[in-house]
Amino acid sequence: MSHSTASTDTDPGAGAGTRTGEPLVRLSHVDKHFGDLHVLKDINLEVSAGEVVIVIGPSGSGKSTLCRAINRLEAIDSGEITVDGKVLPKEGRALAKLRADVGMVFQSFNLFAHKSVLQNVTLGPMRVRGASKKKAEERAMELLNRVGVGNQAHKLPAQLSGGQQQRVAIARALAMDPKVMLFDEPTSALDPEMINEVLDTMVSLAKAGMTMVVVTHEMGFARRAADRVVFMADGAIVEESTPEEFFTNPRSDRAKDFLGKVL
Ligand code: ADP
Ligand code: MG
Repeated sequence: MSHSTASTDTDPGAGAGTRTGEPLVRLSHVDKHFGDLHVLKDINLEVSAGEVVIVIGPSGSGKSTLCRAINRLEAIDSGEITVDGKVLPKEGRALAKLRADVGMVFQSFNLFAHKSVLQNVTLGPMRVRGASKKKAEERAMELLNRVGVGNQAHKLPAQLSGGQQQRVAIARALAMDPKVMLFDEPTSALDPEMINEVLDTMVSLAKAGMTMVVVTHEMGFARRAADRVVFMADGAIVEESTPEEFFTNPRSDRAKDFLGKVL
């Protein structure tokens, strides 16, 4: 969906990305081990501004580690990761700032249980971006309305359904005005009837021009939303292609085997 034009009511302030033709996210020769386990093997991946890259692959193939590495929640052994041309620093304030450029939504919603929905969304912009309470609340309400939970703003997370909580988590990530959004299996902890409301929110985000990296087992969504599919197995990118090509004509045996099980 890289070339869609942002409409005024859905534009999340995203897709602003780079205008230089440089990829917004670039991983070059990234390697990582957990002890003896080689969990990321010479990963090379570029994501352009406005692009939606869907990462799929069997459990244990390194998808979550890849996402976490992009956000530096995991350190890498070697190689380089840049976001908007900047190498992610190892720690400190510079890291906090750059990390804020990368929004992340996890399988478990990770909302602050004792804070209201609204506070969950305003906290980051106030602490990290230095936004005033008023500005942060205005923006939070705008985002909560956009993901369809504006009327839940004053409740605690536990009073919301899983699908609503996950949409709050998306609004919270968007409130930081990230340059790219990472989603790690955002619907896999949800009851089936709530999956589509979250996927629909992600589709509208993609249409509005947000740069997205999405790990998912939702193959229908992948087909619908992806500009590119990246298939991982055993810590390596095995295949990278358009969704049409990947789903109709996977090249590797690993991908054929995987699709045989999930489709
Ligand atoms: P995926 O998300 O594709 O299921 P992960 O990135 O979570 O895969 O994990 C890749 C491999 O790394 C798995 O074998 C997993 O058990 C292992 N792993 C993940 N996190 C850790 C960790 N903190 N310590 C040790 N091994 C880990
Ligand atoms: Mg995972």
